[in-house]
Amino acid sequence: MSKKLVFATNNQHKIDEVLAKIGDDFTLLSLDDIGCTDGIEETGTTFTANASIKSQHIYNKYHLDCFGDDSGLEIDALGGEPGVYSARYAGTHGDHEANMDKVLAKLAGQTNRTARFKTVISLQWQGREHIFEGSVEGTIRSERSGNKGFGYDPIFQPDGHTITFAEMTMAEKNAISHRARAVEKMVEFLTQ
Ligand code: IMP
Repeated sequence: MSKKLVFATNNQHKIDEVLAKIGDDFTLLSLDDIGCTDGIEETGTTFTANASIKSQHIYNKYHLDCFGDDSGLEIDALGGEPGVYSARYAGTHGDHEANMDKVLAKLAGQTNRTARFKTVISLQWQGREHIFEGSVEGTIRSERSGNKGFGYDPIFQPDGHTITFAEMTMAEKNAISHRARAVEKMVEFLTQ
């Protein structure tokens, strides 16, 4: 029988990414699937804290094996900003265009453009928490390029490539992305 695992999200893009890697031994359930409509506030100051807040909320309420994730962009010349504030860097949650404008303005004239995307997953498995991390190093372009993906993808060029995440197919991005790497580590743990 397949094991149930709740992913503390309703983001279908993320769910599809995990489904592609997790195999048939698991039935992946979203927050909608378990009838959870709670607004889980990301009040932490680190990715790990926010991922834990999500998984602990679900585990404490439903006592189901589950995981939560938190991701963002860290830019070295900005002291790690936008970091945990990536989704709301310019003020409004999820305004990706304004967020990119803010980054590009802050980096104007800056030669150090190194950055990385990071994901942390907090898994509650058989009553214990396990943390998995993934990251991808790259640089911030001076202009947007490409229209695929989401968030900061048009201005992020991963190391070893000459195109941005927004110019890659989903499969190309998923082969190297921060989230994919963290998911792979969790799946390896769950299937070992
Ligand atoms: P989340 O925690 O995965 O929802 O990510 C928070 C924010 O980080 C998003 O709203 C985006 O601004 C940014 N982000 C996370 N992952 C990516 C990505 O793969 N591409 C572009 N932006 C991302």
